[in-house]
Amino acid sequence: MSSASELLQLIDIDVRRDLVGATRDQLAAEMSSFGAEPFRARQLWHWIYHRGVTDFAAMTNLAKGFRERLAERYVLGRPAVAAAQVSRDGTRKWLLRFDDGNEAEAVHIPEEDRGTLCVSSQVGCTLNCRFCHTGTQRLVRNLGVAEIVGQVMLARDALGEWPSPQEDRQLTNIVLMGMGEPLYNFDNVAAAMKVVMDPEGLAISRRKITLSTAGVVPLIARCGSELAVNLAISLHAVSDDVRDVLVPLNKKYPIAELLDACRSYPGSSNARRITFEYVMLKGINDSPAEAHELVRLLRGIPAKVNLIPFNPWPGAPYECSADAAIAAFSDIVFTAGYSAPVRTPRGRDILAACGQLKSASVRARRGAT
Ligand code: SAH
Repeated sequence: MSSASELLQLIDIDVRRDLVGATRDQLAAEMSSFGAEPFRARQLWHWIYHRGVTDFAAMTNLAKGFRERLAERYVLGRPAVAAAQVSRDGTRKWLLRFDDGNEAEAVHIPEEDRGTLCVSSQVGCTLNCRFCHTGTQRLVRNLGVAEIVGQVMLARDALGEWPSPQEDRQLTNIVLMGMGEPLYNFDNVAAAMKVVMDPEGLAISRRKITLSTAGVVPLIARCGSELAVNLAISLHAVSDDVRDVLVPLNKKYPIAELLDACRSYPGSSNARRITFEYVMLKGINDSPAEAHELVRLLRGIPAKVNLIPFNPWPGAPYECSADAAIAAFSDIVFTAGYSAPVRTPRGRDILAACGQLKSASVRARRGAT
């Protein structure tokens, strides 16, 4: 009688476990159950997250026999790429397909002096923001730690950035601004970001990581105290009436509560300001009066404002504000003492810009075969 694993091999199913995405604790536990000394876990960590190798045979400081035993039991994988596109402006978008067939997108935005990876936290989203393409896709599921870390690993592969460079990186920043609401998947996002920040691995500092939330108030403090990353708030309106429509989560956590949570965000200061994202929608939220009201609301918060020209998508019920309206809005906020840059849309031609991401994954209906 064969063992279960022999049987599975017979029908050609790979039963080896993927170590990529493991946290330090998980890797240590895995190596100890494998019978290896604790320092082996540290060596593996270095090979996986600093060197980016995907083949145990390349781990030249490990004994050959040990490498072979590792390769029998484990793999070093990456999410599969279902599609890869490059925009006219150099922005790249990957549609990643995970083991269960679900898909999510990640985007790399190169700039003169830095490069930002926009990472997804969920397949689909629960929030249904009216102006957001992802909002038209229902939540399928949260992404796991390995699937979130895998987005960064894959981008590093594509950019040829191994071992983790000290300087002149093409991937310097991470924004949790892809598909999904990161604070509704906080545990996995936090564990993944701890892997990403580790100085002996991917080494992207918490100062270069920004988590964007539509305003899940009860988790904002934990985001500050446990992760201490930069915070961005998708505000988009200055009255509850308007915000209730644009960001329905506002009905649960209205503007005043959201701003209170920002006022006490751990670690924010004039040197580390909270970003308030404000999408510019023609005739909806873009008047000078609303700019003045925004300034009034932000009083007492170390804030900067990011004005985002609305990025269109098929069937979107809004239009982008006129350039003059955006400029006037920005001037008012700027004159009041806040930085208020207009975010340059990137990757619009491949639907890679803010709010344009979407995948075809749908949640299996209960009882469906
Ligand atoms: N759920 C989180 C993370 C998504 S971040 C959040 O809401 O913050 C994506 C950012 O792009 C958010 O600020 C979102 O409001 C903004 N956005 C969504 N649709 C957009 C669109 N069509 N044009 C411009 N920005 C958009």
